[in-house]
Amino acid sequence: MQLPEFEYIRPKSLAEGLQALAEHGPDAQIMSGGSDLLINMKFRLDTPKYLVSFNDVAELKAMETLPDGGMQIGAGCTLTQLAGSGELEDKYPALHDAVFSVGSKHVRNAATIGGNICLDTRCWYTNQSEHWRETRDGCFKTDTEECHVIKTAAKCHAINSSDSAPALMVLGATVVLASAKGERELPIVEFYNDDGVDHTVMQPGEFLARVLIPPPTGRSIYAKLAQRDGLDFASGTFAAGIVGSNESPESVCLVMGSVGPAPKVLDKSIEIIMGQGLNDDTIEAAALAARASLGEVTNLFTPSGYKRRLVKALVKDALNELRDKEA
Ligand SMILES: Cc1cc2nc3c(=O)[nH]c(=O)nc-3n(C[C@H](O)[C@H](O)[C@H](O)COP(=O)(O)OP(=O)(O)OC[C@H]3O[C@@H](n4cnc5c(N)ncnc54)[C@H](O)[C@@H]3O)c2cc1C
Repeated sequence: MQLPEFEYIRPKSLAEGLQALAEHGPDAQIMSGGSDLLINMKFRLDTPKYLVSFNDVAELKAMETLPDGGMQIGAGCTLTQLAGSGELEDKYPALHDAVFSVGSKHVRNAATIGGNICLDTRCWYTNQSEHWRETRDGCFKTDTEECHVIKTAAKCHAINSSDSAPALMVLGATVVLASAKGERELPIVEFYNDDGVDHTVMQPGEFLARVLIPPPTGRSIYAKLAQRDGLDFASGTFAAGIVGSNESPESVCLVMGSVGPAPKVLDKSIEIIMGQGLNDDTIEAAALAARASLGEVTNLFTPSGYKRRLVKALVKDALNELRDKEA
């Protein structure tokens, strides 16, 4: 499959790249590792006139320990770099395991954390060749106001499959968005929209420049289920973080991934564990609440009944493991 034509812009500095994004607006698209974008371009899902790559900007490839013990990760750090970091593994096991679970070694060598956070949503009907898609009408993601998965849907239900996103959410990370006008920082829990087409709050001209993670304060875990261990996107993921003891936690964050257009914070399950601690009964109740929170259509790649059973099992197993991690 051939790539469509585009003009390649490879700035030498962040400022130069942001200027190119400002100049070309919606005609420009950012390419980092290209491990997802280039496939979407071959499928003609993305046809940017200008492709802006920040891969020559050294400052974006740095991982730093912050004075408070937290970490700053440049958007251009590869997932191989992150997976190989002992500091990341010690401080943030959930994030380490999440990035290590992405694709294969070859994919992680090219893939960046910026690209993983901004990863486009996916749908079984849309992430196909143009020729395949021609056999039916378009959809919200291409050129009509229709969804082939939920016929009555008023929006796109394509899935957010980013592995790093749920882990970063439980760690309380923030992202820094840079543009020619300046920078803004926002918690990653506010970064995603529940809409498969317009799936992040980023505006044309903005670039996700770095991620900031606060110092580690508790225990965290990441669990993923995919059809095969290597190369497959997840059928479901779950990240959990707890500060304090199992009996009386000070804070809890539980996030499901690969179940909808945005990672889902499990409010009801959090309430159960915050109120009664982490024990056999609350783990069962939290897993049931997670399953109930998913609604009818939970994944576009597996039947919804399978997905509901998967979510319950994933949450239960991971919370049991997290409970056993108490020092
Ligand atoms: C075989 C295979 C298996 C895969 N398995 C997984 C998996 O298990 N889990 C998973 O999460 N992903 C998976 N992926 C998808 C992809 O490889 C990763 O998500 C990767 O981290 C994307 O990063 P990238 O740097 O290559 O992004 P790119 O492909 O360059 O970009 C992805 C998207 O993000 C935008 N973007 C990139 N960087 C930035 C930035 N800094 N600021 C703003 N926008 C930006 C691009 O415009 C594009 O829309 C897989 C891909 C393949 C080919």
